[in-house]
Amino acid sequence: MKSPEALILTKKRYLTDDLEKDSEMSINSQLKIAIDGPAGSGKSTVAREVAARLNIAYIDTGAMYRAITLKLLRRRCDPVDHGRVEELLKQTVLEVLPGGRVIMDGEDVTAAIRAPEVNAAVSRVAELPAVRRKMVQQQQEIAAASAGIVMEGRDIASTVMPQAPHKFYLDASLPVRAQRRSQEQQDKGLPLSYENTFHEIKERDRIDSERSHSPLAITPGTAVIDTTSLTIEEVVQLILQRVNRQKD
Ligand code: C5P
Repeated sequence: MKSPEALILTKKRYLTDDLEKDSEMSINSQLKIAIDGPAGSGKSTVAREVAARLNIAYIDTGAMYRAITLKLLRRRCDPVDHGRVEELLKQTVLEVLPGGRVIMDGEDVTAAIRAPEVNAAVSRVAELPAVRRKMVQQQQEIAAASAGIVMEGRDIASTVMPQAPHKFYLDASLPVRAQRRSQEQQDKGLPLSYENTFHEIKERDRIDSERSHSPLAITPGTAVIDTTSLTIEEVVQLILQRVNRQKD
């Protein structure tokens, strides 16, 4: 089987120098790739890598929900206080930069949004309709402004980019996802036991898939990849091969 790179090169061979730039742009303009899945399915690492190989933008939408959650926690705002949540949302300026840094109201919160308190609270904040409206609107603006993008989250194929030509859903068994997450946390010097991580992501799975607004679900037309026994590179290759097949 040809590698994805070989397929791209085959396409390029037919382009004259003058046409090459324009044609590459039109190839990339179709590169809207939606990747959804639960925590620990590998989607962030895979999405970042796919975007780097295709030289297009990468957006982690979970980071945006985490940032607003951090703000509510810092302001001691209870998610059930809808009026206060809306007020704080209006005052919040969120930027997600290429490379994954997250800036909230001018502050770099990239590390702070990964704190255990944010893990525990984020799904309760993400189910609020006002929060989803603001996040989805900003994500759609980012997608519309990008020539090519890999966007990952929970509702990208269903709600944020339903028109995306390439849709993937990554999954893995719960024990494997919990193992990956607790290992990641330990590598960052944030020791969280396997048991705690297991229960935390199990609860987030439940809230994310049972909420009434754009729940985590597999949308028709989506390719499902079980990453339980696959390496990151194998998943990246499966995605690149499918994207290249669909482009031809
Ligand atoms: O991807 P990550 O685990 O960082 O996402 C954190 C949380 O943000 C998810 O558990 C979910 O509650 C919420 N989320 C969402 N919709 C998205 C991305 C994340 O509801 N598109």
